[in-house]
Amino acid sequence: MASAMASAARLDLDGKPIEAMTICMIGAGGFIGSHLCEKLMAETPHTVLAVDVYSDKIKHLLDPAEGQEASRHPWGGRIQFHRLNIKHDSRLEGLIKMSDLTINLAAICTPADYNTRPLDTIYSNFIDALPVVRYCSENSKRLIHFSTCEVYGKTIGSFLPKDHPLRKEPEFFVLKEDASPCIFGSIEKQRWSYACAKQLIERLIYAEGAENGLEFTIVRPFNWIGPRMDFIPGIDGPSEGVPRVLACFSNNLLRREPLKLVDGGQSQRTFVYIKDAIEAVLLMIENPARANGQIFNVGNPNNEATVKQLAEIMTQVYAKVSGEPPLEVPTIDVSSKEFYGEGYDDSDRRIPDMTIINKQLGWNPKTSLWDLLDSTLTYQHKTYAEAIRRSLAKPAASS
Ligand code: NAD
Ligand code: UDP
Repeated sequence: MASAMASAARLDLDGKPIEAMTICMIGAGGFIGSHLCEKLMAETPHTVLAVDVYSDKIKHLLDPAEGQEASRHPWGGRIQFHRLNIKHDSRLEGLIKMSDLTINLAAICTPADYNTRPLDTIYSNFIDALPVVRYCSENSKRLIHFSTCEVYGKTIGSFLPKDHPLRKEPEFFVLKEDASPCIFGSIEKQRWSYACAKQLIERLIYAEGAENGLEFTIVRPFNWIGPRMDFIPGIDGPSEGVPRVLACFSNNLLRREPLKLVDGGQSQRTFVYIKDAIEAVLLMIENPARANGQIFNVGNPNNEATVKQLAEIMTQVYAKVSGEPPLEVPTIDVSSKEFYGEGYDDSDRRIPDMTIINKQLGWNPKTSLWDLLDSTLTYQHKTYAEAIRRSLAKPAASS
């Protein structure tokens, strides 16, 4: 009763009541999907058909039959998990047909895979997404597709000499959805296999919109970070696995090892807190008239840091949350060839232009880099410190 009243009171940005909808969320068991499912269950009346090959990160949301919780959750049957691989499963079209909206998050999206598993990367980010786009187009269903800020590649400014005055002009480094070019390295630099596959699926979706009337929104995340991102090697992922930078640095801090700065950690990124970014996605879901046909940068231009600065801030924040003093030598330099292997290359700088998302959805990120690292590293410490302590103690105990 209370939730029915709350849902009746919910209005979109144009003051219209928001109707409850069914959402087919592909990749719902990942980092972004798990936060989006939590938000949809806690604050909206919508139903989620959660599609993934894994469910560990959403098991706290699932009904007793699928998850491990003994008691029923207040959202009951509003989230159902469908364990399927979209590469080859005929149930996918039926789930899309049953839904009002499809959100596609499924991808291989860890840079260590782009140059070492380029075929898997291209298949995952382009070929496997094709049936999703086709089923949405053929069945006149709305699609929110997750692309990446990496489609911009390198900045124009990066081709200028280091101290060239034009490097300071925003048009040489700020990335705009409708104006910036996509600049990738040569084919041997297989790092760009991911960006190129994402760009091609963006072009296909855009063309489906233009030629066949597909209602779509494309999201370009700029380094969303927070709890449940990736895995800690040897604890809840393979020991030899290389996750994205947040989990790499968290793993180093938890194990009291120096943080590895690839090629000196000079690349720059802007980091946005996952909970801020999820607010933007909810606005897209609930304001189709404002989101359809749009490509949105979603990031926090105020949270820019070099990777070296990120390492320094994470070291300070982790000392605060863990109560352990930082290492005397907190970082070491490592070459990209040694760390990622042949074919690695990097984006130099990623600052999102926020004009379009501001105008269409009135969204702005709120959380500072320090605050988002504080809550994320508090989570990492609580979740992993004991498991790491036990895993480090093992060889000593057995010897
Ligand atoms: P993630 O790896 O945590 O989640 C992806 C999920 O998709 C995983 O749970 C995986 O099991 C699932 N999946 C992959 N292939 C599948 C298949 N064939 N069938 C069923 N499920 C499959 O990644 P994330 O960080 O949550 O990213 C989600 C999306 O956002 C991706 O498309 C990614 O490219 C994009 N993105 C994220 C960021 C970021 O900052 N996190 C940045 C740029 C782009
Ligand atoms: N990086 C690093 N040390 C690590 C992991 C990553 O210096 O242990 C660097 C990486 O080379 C890149 C940046 O951190 O310049 C961000 O990497 P991430 O894997 O998060 O993905 P990206 O932002 O490149 O998509």
